[in-house]
Amino acid sequence: MSSRDYKHRLLVNLARALKNGAIDADEIASRAFEECADKEDLRDADVLIKRIKKYLKSLLEQQESKNLPLVDMLAEYCKECEELDKVCENYCPVDAIKKDDGGHYYIDHKLCAECGFCVDSCLAGAIVTQSEFARVAAMLFQTKEHPVYAILAPSFAGQFGPEATPESIKSALKNLGFTDVYEVAMAADVLSIFEAQEFIKRYRNGEKFVITSCCCPAFIKLIEKRRPKIVNLVTQTVSPMIALGKMLKKREPNCRVVFIGPCIAKRNEARLADFQPAVDCVLTFKETSALFEAVDLPLTGALGKENLLDASHDGRIYGFSGGVTQAITNAINYFAPDIEVKPVKGNGLKDCNRLLKELEEGNLEGNFMEGMGCPGGCIGGPGCNITVEEGLKYIKHYAGKAPVKNSFMNQKAAEWKKIYADANLLLAPKYQKKEPGTMTQKKKKERKIKEPVEKHYTAAWADMDKKKPVTKVNLPSEEDVRNAKEYVDSNQK
Ligand code: SF4
Ligand code: SF4
Repeated sequence: MSSRDYKHRLLVNLARALKNGAIDADEIASRAFEECADKEDLRDADVLIKRIKKYLKSLLEQQESKNLPLVDMLAEYCKECEELDKVCENYCPVDAIKKDDGGHYYIDHKLCAECGFCVDSCLAGAIVTQSEFARVAAMLFQTKEHPVYAILAPSFAGQFGPEATPESIKSALKNLGFTDVYEVAMAADVLSIFEAQEFIKRYRNGEKFVITSCCCPAFIKLIEKRRPKIVNLVTQTVSPMIALGKMLKKREPNCRVVFIGPCIAKRNEARLADFQPAVDCVLTFKETSALFEAVDLPLTGALGKENLLDASHDGRIYGFSGGVTQAITNAINYFAPDIEVKPVKGNGLKDCNRLLKELEEGNLEGNFMEGMGCPGGCIGGPGCNITVEEGLKYIKHYAGKAPVKNSFMNQKAAEWKKIYADANLLLAPKYQKKEPGTMTQKKKKERKIKEPVEKHYTAAWADMDKKKPVTKVNLPSEEDVRNAKEYVDSNQK
């Protein structure tokens, strides 16, 4: 039995109890135990039931205190496992799990980047993370006081089984109780342009190297803790999750926003004082699966299929390593074709740390860096239900169905930015003080960046229903895309 089994059974039973309005902790724990325990061997039954109760208590208390670490080790459950391939310290990419003089493992929080990778590595369940699962379940099943929006991370495609399409997932989430569902990839489109503009400006000012802050909090935490000398190279932009949360709150201040994604590190990002108000809760794909199971929701499309037409191809590829680079490079090439982007991609915290060290020492070739805390990018995140390879396949397929190719063609994103997001809303306050650039200033003319106009009827996805499909996939023709792009460029009414 893996630690995930009892955690998953516990989440399912907790959600059912919250839906029925009867919280009996002992009953929830014993049901979870019954559903997951290996009936052949109950030698560890007492340990397991104790662990389940402890985990349930933490879920119910929601561990809201900002003073608690996001990821921590419960020393009393640590079995000091010595099976080399399973020891938690082998899972930590930045060597933050250590042994004290008494042979007990602990997490060194001065080094921990809060990626959450170690949480499910511990078979004894001794490594825990804060969870907002109970809060979200209560929001959906009990209080129902506010509109609750689900915002889906770009890596969501394929995470809920092969039969669950993005369209059926949207319908199922609305059946679950969410008021509406949006793709975070739409905000990624807004930010690809924003980041491209910042890169161009800094490049023109003579800065040699820019690190994109879009969109991994574990990578940013790594820089802050391990490489603080180069933190000023990080761009000032908030992540797509925060940007979309902020836009929704601007539109509807009393709404609640729940991010659904692969990430544990996003929980702390959502709580940062600098980013309020934006995202109220963060759920992983694993936790969301438990919600679906608790209410027995079919994900096959039986509940309907609602179109998700929020994002461009480039916004949707943020979910894998290299996707952010590709999206921002496309935007830079569009707005300033004379600039050569020389990207460096950190794939996983270990790789990121190595590259950042080289950068700090002045030995890294390039002028732009993307860092993803998880190997493979977000599709390798600790909250994923499927493998990196599967995630990559689904994301590429879904990105291929996007109504437009590039961020700067996404009229819906431009419209949202225009209405709900002034420049300040998209800035991360903590990185706003920058050292001036050091290179000789070489001013070159760049393409004037215009705000695309509103109106969906001119967008490439307008009249989608009337398009003749070239393949089984609904895509606008190249001419439509070209027309839409020209329209956006010329800003005609
Ligand atoms: S959360 Fe990540 S960085 Fe922190 S101890 Fe666990 S694996 Fe290491
Ligand atoms: S790569 Fe994605 S899932 Fe992993 S820590 Fe970064 S944002 Fe979270």
